Amino acid sequence: MNVYDSSRIADMLRNQGYEETAKQQDAELVIFNTCHIREKAAEKLFSDLGRALLIKQERAAEGKQTVIGVVGCVVQAEDEQILKRAPFVDFAVGPLMYHTIKDILQRIKENKTHEGEVYTDFPAESKFDYLPENKAQGACSYLAVQEGCNNFCTYCVVPYTRGVEYSRPVEEVLAEAKRLISTGSLEINLLGQNVNSYHGEDKNGKERDLAYLLHKMAELDGLQRLRYTTSYPADMTDELIDCHRDIKILMPFLHLPLQSGSDKILKAMNRRHNVEDYLRIIEKLYKANSELRMSSDFIVGFPGETDEDFAKTLDAVNKVKYIQAFSFKYSRRPGTPAAVMENQIEEKVKKERLEILQNLLFDYQDKFNKSCIGRVLPVLLEEKGRHKGQLIGRTPYMQNLHVETNSANLNKIINVEVVEATTNSLSGKEL
Ligand code: SAH
Ligand code: SF4
Repeated sequence: MNVYDSSRIADMLRNQGYEETAKQQDAELVIFNTCHIREKAAEKLFSDLGRALLIKQERAAEGKQTVIGVVGCVVQAEDEQILKRAPFVDFAVGPLMYHTIKDILQRIKENKTHEGEVYTDFPAESKFDYLPENKAQGACSYLAVQEGCNNFCTYCVVPYTRGVEYSRPVEEVLAEAKRLISTGSLEINLLGQNVNSYHGEDKNGKERDLAYLLHKMAELDGLQRLRYTTSYPADMTDELIDCHRDIKILMPFLHLPLQSGSDKILKAMNRRHNVEDYLRIIEKLYKANSELRMSSDFIVGFPGETDEDFAKTLDAVNKVKYIQAFSFKYSRRPGTPAAVMENQIEEKVKKERLEILQNLLFDYQDKFNKSCIGRVLPVLLEEKGRHKGQLIGRTPYMQNLHVETNSANLNKIINVEVVEATTNSLSGKEL
C-alpha cells in the first residue's frame, strides 16, 4: 500500500513540475512515507530523518534549500510528536491527506518558511478524488481499491492510522485500470488492507463485492495477469473462491494471513476465524483451482502464547505448506488492546519461536521452488539483472526468476524453463 501511495505522491509532484533525483543530495524536496505497523518500522523513520538533516545542512551551506516532509501512518499515530522529535521537518501529513501536499508545498514556497503543521484529519471525501491521473511505471501495477479497516485485531494499528473501511467505486477502479493497461501494465494487483471486504458502488449505486470487480477487471482488453492482496480469511466468500476457478488471468497465488495456529490466540487477537474455518477455506480454494498455492503472515509471541499454542502454528504450516510467508515477533503498539494485555512474552522467547517458524517456512518455500525445476513458467520481466543480458521477473507464484534474454523483453511475458532454484529465487532458460 505504501509503494502505491508513494507512486501516487510522485505522480502528483510530477504534475507540479518536480522530477525524481537519483541521489538525496540533489533533492530540493525529500518525502518519507512511513509505516507504523511494528515498532521497528516506525523507529527507522527517526534514523532516516537524522541522515536527511545532515544532508539538509550540507545543502544549506551551499545556499540550497531543502524541504523535508513526512507522510503516512507514523504521522497519524505520532501526530505533533514528530515535530517535537524532529523540528526540522517542514510538513507532516497522514495517509488519508496526502492530496494536500501540493498546496502545502506552494505555501512553503511563498512564505519561505516551514509549515510546522501536522495534517491528520480523516476527511469525509476520498483522497482519490484529488489525485491526478496515473500512468503505468512498468508492466506490474498496484491499484488501491479499498482502504482502512473495521476489524480491530487487538495487536494492529491499521484501524487507527488508516481509519474506517472505504471502497472506491467500481467505475473509478476500472477507469484507473484501463489507464494503467493503455500505458503498459500487463499485471494489476488490486490492493486493500482488507481487499476482499471490498464493497464499492457500481454506476447504478448498487454495492458490489470483490468477486464482481475481479470479473469486470478480467473483461478489460490487454490485461494478462490479475492479483489481489491482502485478504481477511472470514471474508473469503464462495463467489470469490469460484473466481479462482473461473477467471483465467487470476494468478494461482493467494496471500491469506492466518497469524496463529491456535484458536485461543486467534480469539485473543479478535480474528473472526478459527483454524478449522481457515483450513476449510483453503480446501475449497484448492478444489476450485488445484494449481493454487498459498502465502500467509504470522505473529509469534502474542501475549499469552504458550509453547503449545506455538506448536499449533507449526502444525498449521505443516498442513497448508505455504510457498511464501511473512512472520514477525509480536510488537507492542501503543493504543492497541493487546499492548496492555497481561502475559506479555519475553523477547528471548519471541526470538526463538520466530527462528523455528521461519526455518520451517523457508523449508517449504525451498521445497516448492525446487519442485519447479524442469517446469516451464510464464515470467513477467520487470527489471534488469546485475549481469549484462540478464533480466529479472516474476512467475505466477511471485517467485523471482533470473534469465538471460534480450533486453527488449523487459516488461514482457516470456516462457522460461526453470533450471536452478534456491529458497529465494529461480533461474532458467528462455524457451
Ligand atoms: N489486513 C491484513 C494484514 C495487514 S498488516 C490481515 O488482516 O491479515 C500486515 C501484517 O503485519 C499482519 O498480517 C500481521 O502479521 C503484521 N502485524 C500487524 N500488527 C503487528 C504487531 N503489532 N506486531 C507484529 N506484527 C504485526
Ligand atoms: Fe490490522 Fe488486518 Fe486486523 Fe485490520 S484485519 S486490524 S489491517 S491485521
